[in-house]
Amino acid sequence: MSKTEKKKIVRTQEPEATMMLNKDLDKDWSTIPDYITSGLLSGLVFIMGITMRGDWLMFMAHYRRSQDSELDSLMDRNATEPTELGLWLQERFTGLWPDYIVGATVVSYLFFFGIGGFLHVYYYVMQKDNPESWKCQPNKWLSKKDEIHEIIVGWFSLTIGSVLSAALATWVINGGYTTIYYEFGKHGYLWALVELPFVFLLTDYITYWYHRIYHLPFLYKHFHKLHHTYKQPTAFSVTAIHPVEFLSIQMIYIMPMFVIPIHAVAYCGMLCYIYYHGIIDHSGITFKKLWFQPWQPDCIFHDNHHQYFHVNFGFNVELWDKLHGTQRQKDKIYREDIFYGNGKDISEATREELEADEQQRHDENPLAYQQNKNKYL
Ligand SMILES: [Zn+2]
Ligand SMILES: [Zn+2]
Repeated sequence: MSKTEKKKIVRTQEPEATMMLNKDLDKDWSTIPDYITSGLLSGLVFIMGITMRGDWLMFMAHYRRSQDSELDSLMDRNATEPTELGLWLQERFTGLWPDYIVGATVVSYLFFFGIGGFLHVYYYVMQKDNPESWKCQPNKWLSKKDEIHEIIVGWFSLTIGSVLSAALATWVINGGYTTIYYEFGKHGYLWALVELPFVFLLTDYITYWYHRIYHLPFLYKHFHKLHHTYKQPTAFSVTAIHPVEFLSIQMIYIMPMFVIPIHAVAYCGMLCYIYYHGIIDHSGITFKKLWFQPWQPDCIFHDNHHQYFHVNFGFNVELWDKLHGTQRQKDKIYREDIFYGNGKDISEATREELEADEQQRHDENPLAYQQNKNKYL
């Protein structure tokens, strides 16, 4: 008996009461206008994005520092008066344990499980019966075992992220060195205009290369393969990454705080954007970019990366893959054992390979693409 037949039988055996409850819930949600539902969901994803690695705490630290000019002068004074290392560390990280670490991790767990759980129930449970209307890969589901696996691995990484954010927050609030600034125009108005696109493009481009390098056979096998356990990613997959890789990627986003002068609002806003899309891109839901985001790929772009492995390495700028020839092509096939992002030419594929690839393509939802048309069929 095939898996889908088994699934159908399990579904028909669902208790009647559960089916009635699901129908009632569907009815309630269907009376709410679409723009309110999608606005609410976006808001929740946004909150999950800024809380799951403890970044909210760092944002508050920057706010507090912007309100207290003495802290900036403290930074200058300490730069010229080096103290004993132990004392210096104590000064910089006062309040880290227990207040900041406990605060960051507790909030991160609450929102990761609360909002991630809500998204999961709203789509993967309540709308399980009509995946064609919302799921990027409607015929394929992550197994229960992999769902639990991604939650545990994701939880572990976000714990590391929360401790890191708590450390950065205490560093900022205790007057530690940073290139973040708080007075608009401090480095000139021209720089104020270009700093955000510059830092956004730079970090995104570095992340493209990091990701591509993690797809080289050795690094893939030992580190990045863990994240590719999830061929049908969900919102919980976003931080389900090997700790070594998680830390190295976080370093890219932390780097501007220490080397590039950027206004606190621009920097924190950029992190919100990146983390928000990290969740959206892993949701497995047919979300598309909005009209004011021409640079941004649709959710299916990274979903394709999980389905086909060594292709579409970029995150928030589609251009990098186009420039480097690693964007998915219609006349190529991609698989976990075909490395380097160039795929295998269809003309060189065997009949079995072509059939397997065609099946994969039919497993994709046309609604996930622009004009609701699967461009790879
Ligand atoms: Zn990857
Ligand atoms: Zn991913």
